[in-house]
Amino acid sequence: MHADIVVLPGDGIGPEVTAAAVDVLRAVARRYGHHFRFDEKLIGGAAIDATGTPLPADTLDAAQAADAILLGAVGGPKWSDPNAKVRPEQGLLAIRKALGLFANLRPVKPHVAGLGASPIKPHLLQGVDLVVVRELTGGIYFGRKQRSADSASDLCEYSVFEIERVVRHAAKLARSRSGRLTSVDKANVLETSRLWRDVTTRVIRDEFPDVTLEHQLVDSMAMHLIAKPRAYDVIVTENMFGDILTDEASMLAGSLGLLPSASLGEGRCGIYEPIHGSAPDIAGLGVANPYACILSAAMLLRHSLGLEGEATCVEQAVSRALDAGFLTADLAGEGQRAIGTRAATQAVIEQL
Ligand code: ATP
Ligand code: MG
Repeated sequence: MHADIVVLPGDGIGPEVTAAAVDVLRAVARRYGHHFRFDEKLIGGAAIDATGTPLPADTLDAAQAADAILLGAVGGPKWSDPNAKVRPEQGLLAIRKALGLFANLRPVKPHVAGLGASPIKPHLLQGVDLVVVRELTGGIYFGRKQRSADSASDLCEYSVFEIERVVRHAAKLARSRSGRLTSVDKANVLETSRLWRDVTTRVIRDEFPDVTLEHQLVDSMAMHLIAKPRAYDVIVTENMFGDILTDEASMLAGSLGLLPSASLGEGRCGIYEPIHGSAPDIAGLGVANPYACILSAAMLLRHSLGLEGEATCVEQAVSRALDAGFLTADLAGEGQRAIGTRAATQAVIEQL
């Protein structure tokens, strides 16, 4: 197949890890006879430096015409002045909004190589395989904000439409997995959560009778996620709860450097990126863990290009590279040899 993939390396280690993922995608294309065209564009701090804006029109045009978008990371100390007019993160929010991406998927599947690095007891982690689906466009992050001398407020709003579409997305995903869906809210306190719960209950009852729905309050979910992570399959929740729970869930896998994500909408195009940030402390050193970005490329193959076999092939190659002991510094324990970004990438390509 032919596919146009826009690559947005961004800042910090972004260029190093996206280059690794592109190398793997090229190897997949060679092996399976696909034609992937890569078009590299600016976003974030790199775009601010070159053009004065975090999302240049040229980047957005290319993204809107693409089949899929691979992103590294944006931001860094150079652009973090709180009084700055333009910030790298604005580029990310703007591109997600322009492309109508409302569901952020973060799969968490701990690998043996990460277990030692996780703060959680290894026996709790074996067999964990869950996906958090976070709503991306609504909630308190986007509501009206006000500040006076002695008070401040942030409005939390959700429409039925916004809840329905993300719940349907999560329910389809649950259907393709074990058929279990956990919806997380704070319905004992918040009106938006009571709406969330009503809409979720109705959508699942009327449209997904084969999906088993469970409701959890966000505070107890935070506890269960650590105490019995194996009990969960697909978790769907609103924007801020999802933000917090996905960072928590990432610790199940041991290293930030192992976790991919996808931001999806109604169409096929999505943005695929590792969940880690730009890691300015190790940028340019060639030691960044590329596995999260490579696994994000696997999600790209699956969700935007419909290449399930190729996606699984990449995931298995990463798993075998880890099993074979190809560990970057964030994963290597005491007495284990740490390899760099390129060696890890090469190990994955050989395993393909
Ligand atoms: P952001 O605000 O952009 O999410 P952050 O503050 O969460 O960023 P990261 O940039 O993700 O921070 O980095 C957190 C720590 O994890 C840093 O010490 C960084 O070096 C390390 N880290 C992040 N990603 C990787 C990676 N791919 N490989 C190795 N170490 C990483
Ligand atoms: Mg972060």
